[in-house]
Amino acid sequence: MTGHITNIQRFSVHDGPGIRTVIFLKGCTLRCRWCCNPEAMLQKPVLMFQPELCIGCGACVSVCPTGASGSLEHITVDRIRCTGCGACAQVCYAEAKCKKDTVISSEELLREIEKDRIFYGRTGGGVTFSGGEALLQAEFLEDVLRHCKERGIHTAVETCGNVPWENFERILLWMDLFLFDIKHTDTAKHKQYTGAGCEQIMENCKRLCLENKKVIVRVPVIPEFNFDRRELEDIIRFAERIGVREVDFLPYHRYASNKYRYFDMDYWNPGINKLDKEQVEKCLGPIHTEMKIRIDG
Ligand code: SF4
Ligand code: SF4
Repeated sequence: MTGHITNIQRFSVHDGPGIRTVIFLKGCTLRCRWCCNPEAMLQKPVLMFQPELCIGCGACVSVCPTGASGSLEHITVDRIRCTGCGACAQVCYAEAKCKKDTVISSEELLREIEKDRIFYGRTGGGVTFSGGEALLQAEFLEDVLRHCKERGIHTAVETCGNVPWENFERILLWMDLFLFDIKHTDTAKHKQYTGAGCEQIMENCKRLCLENKKVIVRVPVIPEFNFDRRELEDIIRFAERIGVREVDFLPYHRYASNKYRYFDMDYWNPGINKLDKEQVEKCLGPIHTEMKIRIDG
């Protein structure tokens, strides 16, 4: 069985316990305005072009079957003509052009995961599937997760939750931890900023708790969207009601703002400032809850 990924990140310490290997799967059902992985949003292959790395050799122009690579005088990517075939990326030694879609078999991916195994044992780490939305490729995910569990590897999935419950059901047996994004509890506002309401998301989170799965709720704290005490507290109270024990707040950052340029996409609200830990702490104020509340960053 094969799946589509954009990246494998090794030695991550932010995506579950211990040192982890994070696999980014392609495709997502949301369009969060602040998304830091625009290359993973779309299911189709997409080409990244970093003009500052280009040495003007022209190799990409001669191999492009659709004329999308421009000319020797003007190296570019014509997004209408480009099919994402990746022929240009294969000949681009400067790595100015990269195809952000790797088709990988379960066996190959397991071999990649196994390379980091020594670090898992020593730190209580494991593998985390992220994206995009990893659960969009539920069949592939199930296959890889099952093999990970058979090998005794700790498994986590980072999810936006916006997929049918059946996708969760497929992987439940093989899961140790869900890092579950709850961005807002108001469905109209959720839809305005992410393209979809939050009813299905909240219902899936509730059902995971009913199945006694370990869930950590993660909340990206975004100016204009949910950077407000009442709105953040609504998320805390929802998590508390359904039986979640831990909530992580992740202050908004702008690390991805440059990346959008490489895909000829516009970044949301370029004038907006990042948030730091202290700002989020101050916004939340004292919260009475038995849950563990953490603010990252
Ligand atoms: S990905 Fe394929 S179609 Fe797109 S610019 Fe490169 S060679 Fe041309
Ligand atoms: S192959 Fe790479 S370095 Fe050469 S012209 Fe194309 S983008 Fe630039």
